[in-house]
Amino acid sequence: MAKVYEKSPAFFDTFERKPSMQKTTHYCPGCGHGTLNKIIADQLTELGLQDQAIFVGPVGCGVFIYYYFESAAVSAAHGRASAVATGVSRANPDSVTISYQGDGDLAAIGTSNAIHAANRGENMIVFFVNNNIYGMTGGQLAPTTLIDQTSSTSPYGRSVKNDGYPLRMAEMMAGLEAPTLVARVGVNNPKNIRQAIKVIRKGLEIQRDKKGYTFIEVLSQCPTNWRKDPKEACEWIDEVVSKQYPFGVFKDLTAEREAQDRPCERPEFSAVAKQLGLVEDETNGSTQIEIAQNKLQFKFAGFGGQGVLSLGMMMAQLSMQHNMEVTWLPSYGPEMRGGVANSSVVVSKSTIGSPVVDYPDVLVALNRPSLEKFGSLVPENGLIVYNSSLIDQVPADLKGKVFALPATDLASEAGTAKAANVVVLGFVARKIGMFDLADMEAFLRETFKKPTLQEINLKALHAGWQEAENI
Ligand code: SF4
Repeated sequence: MAKVYEKSPAFFDTFERKPSMQKTTHYCPGCGHGTLNKIIADQLTELGLQDQAIFVGPVGCGVFIYYYFESAAVSAAHGRASAVATGVSRANPDSVTISYQGDGDLAAIGTSNAIHAANRGENMIVFFVNNNIYGMTGGQLAPTTLIDQTSSTSPYGRSVKNDGYPLRMAEMMAGLEAPTLVARVGVNNPKNIRQAIKVIRKGLEIQRDKKGYTFIEVLSQCPTNWRKDPKEACEWIDEVVSKQYPFGVFKDLTAEREAQDRPCERPEFSAVAKQLGLVEDETNGSTQIEIAQNKLQFKFAGFGGQGVLSLGMMMAQLSMQHNMEVTWLPSYGPEMRGGVANSSVVVSKSTIGSPVVDYPDVLVALNRPSLEKFGSLVPENGLIVYNSSLIDQVPADLKGKVFALPATDLASEAGTAKAANVVVLGFVARKIGMFDLADMEAFLRETFKKPTLQEINLKALHAGWQEAENI
């Protein structure tokens, strides 16, 4: 059994999936998520369920749950974790399926998914982390925000007339017939943590015994968005938050519930691949489409503020002007706190099935974490362009053709380091031969109306274009 101050064996020794810092979590200091993760990990270990556990991560501050737990994990689209967990649970009846969701995810965008999974009594345990706020996106009003509580979108406080009443999810879930266990606990002080441990253990035992659906709401402190220090935030849960959301076990039918089997038909993987029109690539298991064929997949990555989203957007717009089908998918969030933001762009001569780019044909990495994160995903025939002004170490495992482009230096010479993305645009466009220079100049004149900006960006474009011939 892991002691309270020891790292649980259910966690990875080092968080290799978190390249920016492998020893610490991404949670803010004093955040309740860390304590809850620790309780879940300890109980999985003690019950011997770590290998059976499959986490379904949400969108929100819990999104990187898979960084930490050495168990299987799936990420769901915003609000869909309970629906994805339904599939996971039914397809893997021996699993302990854990849906980990916050208030925006479960109580706003995903309310219907959550309620219907509960109403079906799926074999899953749902952790609903209630911190009264949208944490990851900057503290906006959530369905759980308290009356009069201020948030970034309710600066004068939540008003019942405008926003309705705070949603008591545990009480709602307890009103349904199917759930086996519904409770609300806290992770803000030792007494509440001890109670949380008991309830969470029981919830996991219910999953081990296949006795149906468990919903555990966890009142969790968010010092960052509550604008309180961690101690004040913990006290505020007892003094204020728990008055609106009382602790307790609202429903417990563990003793009378039998183990339940759910309908589960598992098609062969090959049948699914055929249905989706996928062809397995024997070399790496992916469905790579070769560069210079009908479709190109780009990944533009860097720090927030380096213009990687607009770089992707420019590539997509230029391609659209050339009658190509395009998708542009930005990705940012907690990773922007010192990590990597990126945009994925797919350009195709025919309809695009998915905007997701797992194995880019072209990677642009404007900072080192981006190169480390995505570089090894580029296949041998792909291009990797990295910003050699800021990156002095290149990973050894790169397979693609690598180009060191001093994008920031060239942009500074053109007038501003901020135009590094346009330097890259010129470089990549020439390397892949998709557009000619005159088209791109016209595009930039259209994009940047202000004469000074226009001049700088045209210079940056020419610098990148020229460099593509030099290296
Ligand atoms: S924003 Fe709030 S909920 Fe999110 S990690 Fe920070 S303290 Fe935790």
